[in-house]
Order: sequence, then structure tokens, then C-alpha cells
Amino acid sequence: MIPRTSARGQRESWRQSLRQAITHPAELLAALDLPPGLLGEGAALAAGPFGQGGFPLRVPRGFVARMRKGDPTDPLLLQVLPRAVEMEPVPGFGSDPLAEMAAAPIPGLLHKYHGRALLVVTGVCAVHCRYCFRRHFPYEEQHAGARPGSPRFEAALRYLRNDPTIEEVLLSGGDPLSLPDEQLAELVAVLEEIPHLRRLRIHTRTAVVLPERVDSALLGWLGGTRLRTVVVLHVNHAREVDPALGPEVVEACARLAGAGATLLNQSVLLRGVNDSVEALAELSDRLFAAGVLPYYLHLLDRVAGAAHFEVEEDEARRLMRQLVARLPGYLVPKLVREVPGAPGKVGLPG
Ligand SMILES: *Cc1c(COP(=O)(O)O)cnc(C)c1O
Ligand code: SF4
Repeated sequence: MIPRTSARGQRESWRQSLRQAITHPAELLAALDLPPGLLGEGAALAAGPFGQGGFPLRVPRGFVARMRKGDPTDPLLLQVLPRAVEMEPVPGFGSDPLAEMAAAPIPGLLHKYHGRALLVVTGVCAVHCRYCFRRHFPYEEQHAGARPGSPRFEAALRYLRNDPTIEEVLLSGGDPLSLPDEQLAELVAVLEEIPHLRRLRIHTRTAVVLPERVDSALLGWLGGTRLRTVVVLHVNHAREVDPALGPEVVEACARLAGAGATLLNQSVLLRGVNDSVEALAELSDRLFAAGVLPYYLHLLDRVAGAAHFEVEEDEARRLMRQLVARLPGYLVPKLVREVPGAPGKVGLPG
């Protein structure tokens, strides 16, 4: 008899949750007891295919279960629900706000900052966030392909091997945890053979929206590498990690920490979602209770379709001053903005 907790059983479990994610806006509204009329006409276009300004809906059911029923302004719902307003062009909001295409020395590898190189290992995410700066990113052409042996991956690897100043590799995407563990384990095994690499960083929202992804197979490769590991979660609102709504996310964090990972969080400052000192303070508080330190609070990247989420810089600074007055320093994230050509994320003093 195969025990229910076997690695295979667990793997099936997260893949199944991923397959069962909600992809139809009407189904999402129905699950939340909201009227279908809420969508309006342009919402269908917003949820339409890539390339025409659209970005399909995708949200795991466990994340939907954390939303308040009957509340069209729920902060988790606003992050995933396609809306007509996304299709209105706004000056200054383009399709590649970070000029990432220009920064990539080889497809799928971004080396913008000293000592750190970022590998785009997949274009797939467990959730589609409406504010995502990569919502128009041509993933298929750009990601390195995480499969050792593939020409793109080998080119990325050569680049990493040949630059001894690179001490840290960031796995990003998409979401690196969309990949199967066999592939991630193989990838890490190849990376840790590069002697000058010391740290491995994983940027993920999957661990939050699909906490069952943090299973024993994942913990095997994460906990087994000689590299120091950092997991940067992506949580925008306290409800995403609130144990009162279910222990799953906090437990996933504990498993990651148990495998030796340092846990940090980055958020995006989003109008209507977390743009109040109360929301930001509660987020830091909940994160810390889960063993996660706030790292960055990003100003929105000015990507087409996300203008309605923007919080003005002056207002952001004002919020940060209030946050500093309220929280211990270690619970205050650094307010940053990405500026093309800058040597690192640009901090914005309160
Ligand atoms: C954000 C980012 C990093 C990491 O920057 P940190 O300040 O170390 O978190 C590295 N490479 C790229 C391309 C990035 O966008
Ligand atoms: S998980 Fe990250 S990369 Fe994926 S859609 Fe959301 S913000 Fe974008």
C-alpha cells in the first residue's frame, strides 16, 4: 500500500490544485456570491488572450476561500479580477516598463545588479495578478528554460560560470515553483557546482496562493543544497497569511524555514488593496507572526492595464512615515521603485 503522504501523492495534490484553479470570471463571482453584472463589457477583453492587452484570469481556489463573500472591494479579489478599466490606455503606462528586454544579455537571464543574476525559469504562474509588470512579457521567447541541456539554459549557465562576481542566483519567472521538483532539483544541482555561487534566492507567490506546493519534494532540494537559500514571498495583504482564515500558508512558511530558508516578503503598494497605514501595519504583523520579515514595498511598475492600482509617490512616502511611527524598524519594508539603468532598486526616503 502506498502511504498517503508519499512524495508522489503530495505532488499530485498541488498539481491537482493548480489544474482546478478558477479561470472563468463568472465562476469566480459566483463563488463569492457576487452578481455577474459586476464584470461589465470590457472585462471580457481584459480577461482575453495575451498579446491583445489581455491577461487571462487564474486564481487557485484556496486563495478564493480567503476572500470575503459578497464584497466587490475585497483586497484579494481586486488583485485577480479582470476589469474593464484595464483596457483604457493611460499615458506613461507601457508594455515593458522596466526595459527588461534591453537588459537581458541572453534570453532569460537578467544581470542588472552587482553580484546577482536573475534567471527567468518559466512564464507560468499559479495566479495571475492584474498589476503584474510582466503581464505583457513574451515569456515564451524570454525564459531560459530551466532544463539543463537546453541550449538557452546552457548559454545562461556559461554566463554564470564565466562571471566570478556573481554570488547569488535568483530564480524568478513567472513563478519558479510552477516547475516540477525534478526539474528544480536538477537545476539547483547544476548551479551549486559553480564555485563562486553562494546564495540561491527564490521569488515566489505560489507558496502563498497554493501553499500545498511546499511539499516534501520541494523541501528536499531546498534543504539539501550547499547554497544559502532565501525565499522571497510575495504577499500584499494580511488576509493572505491570516491563520484565522486557515493555517495552510503559515504552515508552509514554517516548512520553508525548517528547510533552512531565510524568509522575506515583497509587496506592491496597490490602491484599494493595501494603501493605508492600517493595512500595511497589519501585513507586517501577520508576516512576522509567520516568521517572514518585510523586505520591499514596491511602487507599482507603470505597466499598461494597471494604472488604476497606482499610488502616487508622495502618498507612498506619507504612508511610510506613518508606518515608521507605528512599527519597530525591522517590520518596516523599504519603499522602492525600479528605475531602468539604476545599479539597484531605488529606495525612496520617507
Ligand atoms: C530586484 C532584482 C534583483 C534583486 O535585487 P535585490 O535588491 O537584491 O533584492 C536582481 N536582479 C534583478 C533583475 C532584479 O529585478
Ligand atoms: S505571481 Fe508574480 S509574476 Fe506571476 S502574475 Fe503574479 S505578480 Fe506576476
